[in-house]
Amino acid sequence: MNKVELLGHYGSDLTHAQSAWTSTTRDLTEEKLGRIDKLLKMLATEGHHTPFEKSSLHFLVTVDQATHIHLLKHRIGVSINGESARYKELKEDKYIIPRDWPKDAQEVLENYTKDTNAAYHLLVEKLTPQLGRKRAKESSRFMKMMNSQITMDVMFNWRSFYHFQKLRNDGHAQKEVRELAEEMLNQVKQIEGNPFKQTLKAFKLG
Ligand SMILES: Cc1cc2nc3c(=O)[nH]c(=O)nc-3n(C[C@H](O)[C@H](O)[C@H](O)COP(=O)(O)OP(=O)(O)OC[C@H]3O[C@@H](n4cnc5c(N)ncnc54)[C@H](O)[C@@H]3O)c2cc1C
Repeated sequence: MNKVELLGHYGSDLTHAQSAWTSTTRDLTEEKLGRIDKLLKMLATEGHHTPFEKSSLHFLVTVDQATHIHLLKHRIGVSINGESARYKELKEDKYIIPRDWPKDAQEVLENYTKDTNAAYHLLVEKLTPQLGRKRAKESSRFMKMMNSQITMDVMFNWRSFYHFQKLRNDGHAQKEVRELAEEMLNQVKQIEGNPFKQTLKAFKLG
């Protein structure tokens, strides 16, 4: 299975509200604190989304190759670093087998995956004397299949996280990335003290 872990976060509903209040004054009063929910709802509804760029959500994910590509497609407000198959041999053979496939199809994929992973490690060794370790590692990964997983860290601001949720936590998105987006959202909702409670509500994610 693909995996998600929320490594950390910065910001809160108040961070978003204060960013918007920078237009007038950031000073807080009881009255202002009491209308954060209404303010965030108005900002979200009317498309005044820059205040939501002031928070960060940082995840560690282990994903198959299609999901890796889906993540990389998000260019704005998303920062990604991935495990490299150039700098190191991928010692651990991480992969997914779709659990919605019939058992016999799962077995076929599992067998091919094991064979190609074995070929990958073999090739790293065989090609090294001729091509050097670096080229051997980076090119042996051509043996790896699309169900191979890599680990990446992904950081969104709230605005880009919402955009990602809208596109990927949706019936039109591939199941694997949809489940990843869904789990990211669950973990954000479970942050102690629910610091993004009103923002989640404002974007109808809560
Ligand atoms: C269901 C689904 C099917 C898809 N199928 C395919 C496919 O078949 N092939 C394929 O290649 N991709 C496909 N994609 C990926 C898709 O085309 C986008 O690359 C991806 O969803 C990232 O979306 P984005 O550009 O809105 O996000 P980001 O890159 O994060 O951009 C965020 C927002 O910034 C603005 N923006 C970003 N760049 C520009 C720009 N250059 N000019 C103007 N405004 C900009 C836009 O408002 C954009 O929505 C698919 C995506 C989905 C959800």
